[in-house]
Amino acid sequence: MADGEVTGACLCGAVRFRVTLPSLFCGHCHCSMCRRNHGAGFVTWFGVLRTQLSLEPGSAPLERYASSEHGSRSFCGRCGTSLFCENTAHPDRVDIPLANMEGRIDRKPGFHCYFDHGADWVEVDDELPRLGGPTGIEPLRSDG
Ligand SMILES: [Zn+2]
Ligand SMILES: [Zn+2]
Repeated sequence: MADGEVTGACLCGAVRFRVTLPSLFCGHCHCSMCRRNHGAGFVTWFGVLRTQLSLEPGSAPLERYASSEHGSRSFCGRCGTSLFCENTAHPDRVDIPLANMEGRIDRKPGFHCYFDHGADWVEVDDELPRLGGPTGIEPLRSDG
């Protein structure tokens, strides 16, 4: 594997992919769609340009679900692992769950988004910026 590349896979290994770094961002999403789609309290995503993501030769094709008017989520048709999230609002970018990677990327999670949509059973005690509001990425007033 070349420098600055990291591989990822679904649970069963039918889908395998490769990402060329650098990433654009990395953060925890607390929106209800992520929560339900991944069966998790929140989902840690990182983003790259679409040109930096490629399926490995022999990888199974992705299944796709249109999760909103603008967004689609892809997954493995064999094991159901949630994979990439794409949005027509930023068509040159693809978001990838950090948990699906087999190695480290170039940064740590740097923020919480849709924080005000988060599950009340998730406790967050880090110092990362908490973003939310209508767009999910506006600074939230600290609750003092
Ligand atoms: Zn799979
Ligand atoms: Zn989300």
